[in-house]
Amino acid sequence: MKRLDNIKLHIGESEQTLIKIAQKNLKKPVKFFKILKKSLDARDKNNILWVYSIAFSEEPEEVRPSLEKLCSATQVAVIGSGPAGLMCGLRLVEHGIAPIIIERGECVEEREQTTLKFFKSRVLNPQSNVQFGEGGAGTFSDGKLNTQTHNGNNRDVLEYFARFGAPKEILYLNKPHIGSDNLKTVLKNIRKFIENNGGKYLFNTQFIGFNKFQSGKSNRPKLKSLILKNTKTGEESELEVGFTVLAVGHSSRDTFKMLDRSGIKMTPRDFAIGVRIEHLAAQIGLAQYGKNYKLLPAADYKLVSHAHERTVFTFCMCPGGVVIPAASEEGGVVVNGMSNYARNGLNSNSALMVQMKADDFGGELFSGMEFQREIERMAFEAGGRTYAAPVQLYKDFALDKISQGFGEVEPTYAAGTFFAPLNEILPSVAVSALKAAIPDMDKRLRGFANPSAILTGVETRFSSPVKIERGEDLQSVSLAGLYPCGEGAGYSGGITSSAADGIKIAEKIFENIKNHTIFI
Ligand SMILES: Cc1cc2nc3c(=O)[nH]c(=O)nc-3n(C[C@H](O)[C@H](O)[C@H](O)COP(=O)(O)OP(=O)(O)OC[C@H]3O[C@@H](n4cnc5c(N)ncnc54)[C@H](O)[C@@H]3O)c2cc1C
Repeated sequence: MKRLDNIKLHIGESEQTLIKIAQKNLKKPVKFFKILKKSLDARDKNNILWVYSIAFSEEPEEVRPSLEKLCSATQVAVIGSGPAGLMCGLRLVEHGIAPIIIERGECVEEREQTTLKFFKSRVLNPQSNVQFGEGGAGTFSDGKLNTQTHNGNNRDVLEYFARFGAPKEILYLNKPHIGSDNLKTVLKNIRKFIENNGGKYLFNTQFIGFNKFQSGKSNRPKLKSLILKNTKTGEESELEVGFTVLAVGHSSRDTFKMLDRSGIKMTPRDFAIGVRIEHLAAQIGLAQYGKNYKLLPAADYKLVSHAHERTVFTFCMCPGGVVIPAASEEGGVVVNGMSNYARNGLNSNSALMVQMKADDFGGELFSGMEFQREIERMAFEAGGRTYAAPVQLYKDFALDKISQGFGEVEPTYAAGTFFAPLNEILPSVAVSALKAAIPDMDKRLRGFANPSAILTGVETRFSSPVKIERGEDLQSVSLAGLYPCGEGAGYSGGITSSAADGIKIAEKIFENIKNHTIFI
């Protein structure tokens, strides 16, 4: 197999040129051709280029060896059907282990209806919403797949997504995204595959407790069964388990409390809070790419500011996307961002986050969680208890003035907005950090401090406020057989790293079943 890097094409030039380049290089017919990487070089706005790495050969592609399989009679449960739980489930199935996937929210078809109803009529279902339900927190997202972590399973995550219906280009773009519209199809395809291979989904089923027993000489008890509750009927049931993956995401506050009461070791984590900032997508395009922006995909950005003693950073940028209501608890306003694959909305938004420290909220296990909840509650109260979100134009935020009307940017938040002083909702350290950061970021992205840019509050669900401690065997240090996994447990952040952690756990469980090391 040959590889060529740094091949540059002008915008609008056909990718067929790449095959011609491969053929010329090989001097033989190309039987295998693959784009390995595609990125945009926009440093010179008058000469913007796509930059490629390609692989090709005169032989057809080698087929990847299939995974080692076993048929296990051991019951494996996966709690949570977010990226971590689902990728864990997929890898288990590929190893011949059919898991039961337990999900408090609805299947994606019903969840979509329930969530849209919340956006329109502001009736929140605390069990099925933007945070909870099939696909987890990422279902109503931009589906960005880039990650800072270098987990060996990252590539497998992209391949699974592509195999189950995501655009194939995610395999080589340097900033891949799936889009919320495509994600729903991917989830249905994954479900079909897992069920066709003997796996089972229990939707509307909340994990509310467990039974354990003491095994052998170990001073760590072993998980025996899960207590489950049907969230529609209230009926409780017990499920005997051999291994359980706990992939409940960062918003499962009631589950964290239950785990703590049941003696599962957890520690508090620092996190960030902030607002969404919304600009016209055209303005961001112009700033990033110059006049050629219309020929290119909607522009993104990633900014960090150290202008204040607290670092401020942009996060989860949604080009051509919308700001969405992302609450999962009654009486709290939470915002986040989402885009469809085309990213063709009028506005672009991003989370603008301020790093918080334990000193800001106290050192108890749940101090951070209560701190997040209190800010969400204040945003809710300020808006007349309707789930409408508090907004302020940047020019007014800078002067602590309540805005009187919108400028060139109209808000996209579907559940309604109201003008409010964000400085009275966010902690003062966050307010002063944001005030210092926005003009500083404007030095690197012209127009970021546009007076009409809209700040929408509050973005509080950035990461998990707790970590569920696991040992080197990847099991809870307090309970054998329980595998804390993904973002809620504190081992990942974002879709790809959470999914990769799920695969890691699946491999560990496969190894343990194969070696009969059920009890540690
Ligand atoms: C609106 C939005 C947009 C986002 N955009 C992006 C993006 O573009 N790119 C990116 O990388 N990240 C994005 N994220 C973050 C990303 O979605 C998360 O990092 C990721 O989903 C975490 O995966 P997870 O599987 O660990 O947890 P989750 O996805 O949170 O999944 C946890 C699942 O567990 C279920 N659950 C919780 N408690 C229980 C219980 N007791 N019993 C049964 N089930 C339970 C929940 O219902 C949920 O389905 C976004 C998040 C949101 C909210």
